Amino acid sequence: MQLNICHLYPDILNLYGDRGNIITMKRRLEARGIKVNIEECSIGQPLDVDKYDIFFIGGGQDFEQEVLLRDLASGKGRDICTAVEDEKVFLAICGGYQMLGQYYKTWDGNQLDFIGAINIHTIGAKERMIGNYMYRTTPESGGTIVVGFENHSGKTYLGEDVAPLGMVLKGYGNNGEDQTEGARYKNVFATYSHGSLLPKNPALADFILHTALAHKYDGAEPLTPLDDTLENRAHDYMEERLRHG
Ligand code: GLN
Repeated sequence: MQLNICHLYPDILNLYGDRGNIITMKRRLEARGIKVNIEECSIGQPLDVDKYDIFFIGGGQDFEQEVLLRDLASGKGRDICTAVEDEKVFLAICGGYQMLGQYYKTWDGNQLDFIGAINIHTIGAKERMIGNYMYRTTPESGGTIVVGFENHSGKTYLGEDVAPLGMVLKGYGNNGEDQTEGARYKNVFATYSHGSLLPKNPALADFILHTALAHKYDGAEPLTPLDDTLENRAHDYMEERLRHG
């Protein structure tokens, strides 16, 4: 078995070590004897969506998101929409999450029209939502507690056909108003959680990897458990801190 991962815009959307999610996916797959091929695709490079099973998009600031608009409009945005509808797996973080949506209106009134691969939109607020936070994914996304770090000005609102990835237990999540966090549409997993999302949330990592395997290989077996002592210690420490802090 082999999974092909495409890292979209690695040189532009690369805040807070979001790339660590790719390292985690690779390590967890290889530990199960599954081959991994990672390729990067950035501005000006053609994207052959059929080649890949998982797409990863990291976070970026408003300026960096704006820089991508022309490249997305040249056809890549349409290709990404096709891949989403074909139920390819996407993991999108913060600015990458917003980019999959309809539009992002920055707090100072600049509207960035994005690709509309998922029916969400984002409105910037002057006060940023920053800090460690925690949410429980919905049963459809594994039903586990995710600990993370968020830093965004954008408040994201989900359309009717898009489910949240989870519900906020501590922190802001999508908008600080409706308790939703992230988005789940087909096999898109989108979240505001930066940096060590998958390293310290191994259950979510395996849920996403299993989704990709099951999509590619009909009836993929459940993944064999790994020794996640250290990962779980990091997770549980943050969970405790957030519960009682
Ligand atoms: N520019 C977006 C916002 O502030 C995304 C930021 C990010 O990716 N951290 O909402």
